[in-house]
Amino acid sequence: MTLPSTYADDNCSLARTLEIIGERWTLMIIRDAFYGVRRFGDFAAQLKIPRAVLANRLKSLVREGVLIREEDAATGVEYRLTDKGLALWPVVHALMNWGDAFYSPAGVKRALRHDQDGGLLDREGRCQDCGSVVPVPQIRIETGPGFDPAASDDDPLSRAINTPRRLLEPIVASRTRPVDEGEPSTV
Ligand SMILES: [Zn+2]
Repeated sequence: MTLPSTYADDNCSLARTLEIIGERWTLMIIRDAFYGVRRFGDFAAQLKIPRAVLANRLKSLVREGVLIREEDAATGVEYRLTDKGLALWPVVHALMNWGDAFYSPAGVKRALRHDQDGGLLDREGRCQDCGSVVPVPQIRIETGPGFDPAASDDDPLSRAINTPRRLLEPIVASRTRPVDEGEPSTV
């Protein structure tokens, strides 16, 4: 859903930000990029969104400099968060916290830890063990008490995401598929 242009407000940075990340699916794509998803086919499988919509969102995120599209003969096309994209982590984290606080009575769905010492991160992203604000590549994500395995898909990609791992660590599930459908040529 594109926000109506009347939301545009030169003096409101929230309105400006929502023009970039307020579209349906966009933050989910960004979330998956933090989880280490890089390939078109993996985003499509994980999010179950129409490929044309995914192509459109990826294109717009690349245009805005949130993602970078890299093509490599060996690995194919990959999308990765730029520094500008990585700067959205506190937003994603805050929205996860909010959802956990108000919609997950059994506890957090995903727990975040400092990979080096295993300390849990507080809501501000600070390690409760060593006290440092943990940079994104050093954050380990794992399922929490509110996570319901029965509600999760059981495919290689979901299994990888649900196994304790560092953020941004690449997931390469689609490479093991016999036929990678790849991305539409319009991307
Ligand atoms: Zn720590």
